[in-house]
Amino acid sequence: MGFIQRYLGRSNIMQKRLNPRFRKTAVTAILSSWCLSSLCLAAQTAVPPPVVTWVNDQATWPANNQTAPSDISPQDKTTKLLVLGSGTPMPNPYRFGPASAVIVNGYPYFVDCGEGWFRAVNRAAVNQHGIDLTQVFALGNLKYMFLTHLHEDHTVGLPSFILGPYKYASSTNKVIMGPPGTDHLVNGIVEAWSADRQEQFEGMHGSPEGSGANAGDIDPDHDLPGPVFEDANVTVQAFKTEHGAFASPLAYRFTAKSDGRVIAVGGDGHYSPGLVQAAKNADVLVIEGVTWDNLKFANWGGGNLDEKIKNISRYHMFPADLKRVQDESHVKEIVMVHEQNFAAPGKYDPLGLQHEMEKNGVKNIHSAVDGDLF
Ligand SMILES: [Zn+2]
Ligand SMILES: [Zn+2]
Repeated sequence: MGFIQRYLGRSNIMQKRLNPRFRKTAVTAILSSWCLSSLCLAAQTAVPPPVVTWVNDQATWPANNQTAPSDISPQDKTTKLLVLGSGTPMPNPYRFGPASAVIVNGYPYFVDCGEGWFRAVNRAAVNQHGIDLTQVFALGNLKYMFLTHLHEDHTVGLPSFILGPYKYASSTNKVIMGPPGTDHLVNGIVEAWSADRQEQFEGMHGSPEGSGANAGDIDPDHDLPGPVFEDANVTVQAFKTEHGAFASPLAYRFTAKSDGRVIAVGGDGHYSPGLVQAAKNADVLVIEGVTWDNLKFANWGGGNLDEKIKNISRYHMFPADLKRVQDESHVKEIVMVHEQNFAAPGKYDPLGLQHEMEKNGVKNIHSAVDGDLF
């Protein structure tokens, strides 16, 4: 046991009141005031770093997160793909939960609604200047949501999507589509927040308009593959993908009527024929990725590499799988989100997974951050 541990072991009050960062500072101050000999300076530098666990994984450290978004979209096209949230279930403070917007004629169609969705909308509007998102995200435009699957990390923003705009006087009821279970989920949220809706209705709004949501289940037996939505701007087709034990996770293919741009959003999952169909000759595919080379450093999936391979391959996209998707679909550009870029301690590279994908033959792939425009 080292000196500092022994010292803190005798000082229970200090241990309880100070978090590790401040505890280290306090101990350093005590040591500094105690003596200034070279021996004591050596003791300061010997303080071990805090233990790294799932909750402070190196992928979430400030130095490993670039936060300024880019505009990589073709300037001669008005249809754009905006990454609102590039994160995973990992509570990375620099990446909101999975969420995207396909923007056609200045109007947004949202795909997935992860943690922090409402904040992600505002943050993108503040940080991304490639197009005027303050107009795109006018309150009345926050209406259409397409869910790829019903994992919590892709849906936990729905209460904010449904009720946040209503607080600012939007009278637009929401329309939410997704795989079987979407209707149940949305109705449950509307019911669960009934006190909030009732209070606003009675307290300020005078109308329930804008506080509701119409949900639609996309039936894999009758609706797939096929068009599930159409308006003056877009046609949206849905395709069945594969992700864990879900019966029918979905990929969406947006075809813009104005400029013909095709944007596919794949959600989570490994290779599937449906994903290839969704991305067939598309301009952009938004898709997840997970490392193969560094899978042994994964912070979930099992206690050893064999278990991690077995479990994670049922859920996520390894480089060889994504190469196959690209080869068979001929999609032009790949926007990688939901990255599981595990790495050896001290070896984290923010672009490590993109480089691994490229090493495996995946071309024209971008490692996205929140607010990126494609
Ligand atoms: Zn996910
Ligand atoms: Zn998922």
